[in-house]
Amino acid sequence: QCFGKEAGAHIWVIAFPACGHILPLVDLTHQLLLRGLTVTILVTPKNLCYLNPLLSLHSPNVKTLVFPFPPHSPLPPGVEQMQDLPISFVPDIANALGKLYDPLFQWFQTHTSPPVAILSDILLSSWTTKLASHLNIPNISFIPFNVAAVSFWFDNLNNSGSFYREAFTASIQSRGLVFNSFKELEGVKLDMIKEKFTRNDRVWAVGPLLPVKAGDNGLNERGGPSSIPQDQVMAWLDSCKQNKSVVYVGFGSQITLTKQQMKAIASALEESGVRFIWAVKDPMKNVEVGGDDQSIIPNGFEDRVAGKGLVIKGWAPQVAILRHRAVGSYLTHCGWNSALEAILAGILLLAWPMQADHFHITKLLADEFGVAIRVCKGLKSIPDATKLARIFVDSTSMTQPERIRAMELKKNALNAIRKGGTSYQALDKLVEELSS
Ligand code: UDP
Repeated sequence: QCFGKEAGAHIWVIAFPACGHILPLVDLTHQLLLRGLTVTILVTPKNLCYLNPLLSLHSPNVKTLVFPFPPHSPLPPGVEQMQDLPISFVPDIANALGKLYDPLFQWFQTHTSPPVAILSDILLSSWTTKLASHLNIPNISFIPFNVAAVSFWFDNLNNSGSFYREAFTASIQSRGLVFNSFKELEGVKLDMIKEKFTRNDRVWAVGPLLPVKAGDNGLNERGGPSSIPQDQVMAWLDSCKQNKSVVYVGFGSQITLTKQQMKAIASALEESGVRFIWAVKDPMKNVEVGGDDQSIIPNGFEDRVAGKGLVIKGWAPQVAILRHRAVGSYLTHCGWNSALEAILAGILLLAWPMQADHFHITKLLADEFGVAIRVCKGLKSIPDATKLARIFVDSTSMTQPERIRAMELKKNALNAIRKGGTSYQALDKLVEELSS
């Protein structure tokens, strides 16, 4: 277990295995490694692939600590990632990983230069904070949700289920909180969290975190290989001559749409005549969630829209798509990472919030910043195809006020992460805290 020469403080990173959690924590870890820290990341075998860009860039200063995923009865055997499960399984995944407490404790005891701090996902807080205090080191809580939602949840602990109440309470009591957000976007809410909950200054907004770039592959490896090679997707976008004319449709790594929802989106895309990329998540196979009803692309749709649109079945190179000059708007579930990626790309959002923090994010982006247009809401709703088609067409107009404001917000986001910017400074302070 040797780190490179002149290695800085050694920390432990413990991620929650959902794409929306592990990807931004990998991005944060990249920033910490750039600032000289050394890192051991706890991971189970099927989640190792998410670390590839980090390992290829930062060896030997980053190491993995691989434990088999502990069997846990409500979870289907072999499942180690939320992508294969509905959101109701979050507590089971967290509790399964909690079974690693003793092996981690023992590993720490035998390590020649054990970690000086734990940086762990908020959803694992109930056991990582205990482990940290048992080992007499601080636990810092990484929170990949939007600040408004978290402040609401902290304020309503008694209305949450016992799993979330425990995790959030432990997170509040941890040494500090790291948000993937930025002051210019959520400064008021961040101050509120400090005043009302943590009662200290150790709340760092370090976002929007930039995706790790791994060598020549660029963003290829983010979250795993794309189901259509990234260069083919980019070549298709390159062939779209007009800037901001392509609509991207994607609902993140968790949501699968029902047959009726798929039909409505397909009809709207076809009726609108806009160019589009539609990322269709693979159905969840391991558990009963509507069985065969998920992710069905209507018969003949792809043939009818050939040339106009690209349907990506499975994993899409989302960040690269959003950043392409041809892409102008994004029909989204308003997952926090997707929202931040769209902000950094200066894209107009068409919001269809589904669950978790999505409704808070929609409020922030539609009502407070005016960069999103509300399109539909709820896991079960079916949009009107003709109305949606009109929204798609309008969203490609260069003069949409939401688009103009999105370009402004992009500038503010870039300023926050630039050297000397608010998020850049917060990262420096976080590194100081982790190294002290
Ligand atoms: N993502 C991707 N390709 C896909 C689906 C998702 O790269 O086909 C990435 C997306 O860019 C984002 C993350 O997965 O970084 C999803 O996180 P988000 O918080 O937006 O939504 P969630 O998946 O947690 O609902």
